[in-house]
Amino acid sequence: MSCALLEFDQVSKVFPGVKALNGVSFEVHAGQVHGLLGENGAGKSTLLKILGGQYRPDGGRLLLAGQECRFHSAGDAIQAGIAVIHQELQYVPELTVAENVLLGRLPTRLGFVDHAAARRLVADKLAAIGVDLDPAVRLSELSIAQRQMVEICKAVMQDARVIAFDEPTSSLSHRESEILFRLVQALRAEGRALIYISHRLEELYALCDSCTIFRDGCKVATHPVMAEVPRERLIADMVGRELHDIYDYRERPAGEERLQVRGLRGAELPHELSFSVRRGEVLGFFGLVGAGRSELMRLLYGADRRSGGEVLLDGRKVSASGPAAAIEAGIVLCPEDRKEQGILAQSSVAENINISCRRHGLLGGVFLRHEREAARADGFIERLRIKTPSRDQEIRLLSGGNQQKVILARWLAEPGLKVLILDEPTRGIDVGAKNEIYRLIHDVAESGCCVIVVSSELPEVLGIADRLIVMREGRISGELQRAQANETEALRLALPDGAPSVQ
Ligand code: ADP
Ligand code: MG
Repeated sequence: MSCALLEFDQVSKVFPGVKALNGVSFEVHAGQVHGLLGENGAGKSTLLKILGGQYRPDGGRLLLAGQECRFHSAGDAIQAGIAVIHQELQYVPELTVAENVLLGRLPTRLGFVDHAAARRLVADKLAAIGVDLDPAVRLSELSIAQRQMVEICKAVMQDARVIAFDEPTSSLSHRESEILFRLVQALRAEGRALIYISHRLEELYALCDSCTIFRDGCKVATHPVMAEVPRERLIADMVGRELHDIYDYRERPAGEERLQVRGLRGAELPHELSFSVRRGEVLGFFGLVGAGRSELMRLLYGADRRSGGEVLLDGRKVSASGPAAAIEAGIVLCPEDRKEQGILAQSSVAENINISCRRHGLLGGVFLRHEREAARADGFIERLRIKTPSRDQEIRLLSGGNQQKVILARWLAEPGLKVLILDEPTRGIDVGAKNEIYRLIHDVAESGCCVIVVSSELPEVLGIADRLIVMREGRISGELQRAQANETEALRLALPDGAPSVQ
């Protein structure tokens, strides 16, 4: 029988205009993984920032092994044996793996940092947790997944009793996620208490022993045995309403071919790639990370230079001169990395949504414009359930998932839209908003546009697309009509030849 190692007791946190946490209580036991679920903006990250000593609560207590803790800094939390792997990773890119892991506690010899000893220490630990990384490499040279492993290694070296993960898999590939899952399971077996935040229910069911669900800063429920809770129940608790079919697929008549992509090639895609999209069609692109889907979309959009091929829209050739020409023609790409590529951090939610319409001068004179912008912004805030105190809030103060919704709203609102390309549109987005995004996708298609959805989530592309193209190692490995598309078939096309089959 495990005992509560960590207890949140009536924890509250207020930001200007938002009650991020409202008297939240639950316990986490040693040797367990406790899942934390909730829509974007529910307060999950805020709780972990309190746990990690970054924020002080406005009310309530935090107890570790029955003792109340008061942290005044992140250092205090680490001292107490708590490690938080935040949504925005916190490391020093210029330092090496060993230096990052041992930051503040580097071994010294005769008053100097003993780099050789530091590397040995870290190399041993990395090997022990089964991570293959050179301790002498700088963090800036590593992938996001590898940087995350470094943070985990750091937590383990600090001998943290409590380790909390905030959406750790949102930027990891399947293989990288699996390494992470194994690590989490090993840490649980060692008797540590773990908190795990994710939007992916499959992952939560596979990893978590128990879970707590947040909605609007309040705790909705704690389930001591996660495996006994049906999926529908979790979703309804998070969303506050029943969601029967989140994909909301609608039958559409197949229109004539509208977009034709012929023989595209580029630096990273040396093999010619061709496909077409019909009017009103939602075309899904599935493949493993690195299959070349995003690269193909960037070529199509003119963001990367083509070395061959052409794109025709309504029979007319689209200039390959760059994204400006593509947008002019009505082709829009909402990139995978929305946060880096799209946010005007100092501007309001409304300004971020309306920017493309402003560029097109579609919103009339100054007076009219203000009113129309406000109405458009409010419309999207409602539809996508963007959690913000008002349309005038600076976007940088929104939670990560809500920032993504704002950026997505901007692209969905692009005037003159003919081809909408969405790269991982729901990554990091909660289930209620996913449903709204799927509906918007179907609306856009029904209006006669071509919609291309690139996704690594197989149930998602199977759920919303009329047709599926699968890529593997820079080539199109197959095409499946909705009626014949299923997980097994899509995975068979996506996996490299001779790969072991997936259970
Ligand atoms: P989650 O991680 O569940 O998506 P967060 O904990 O990030 O949600 O956010 C909870 C709420 O608090 C959101 O409405 C968010 O906009 C708000 N919030 C979070 N941090 C700040 C901050 N530093 N200033 C103002 N509001 C914030
Ligand atoms: Mg968060």
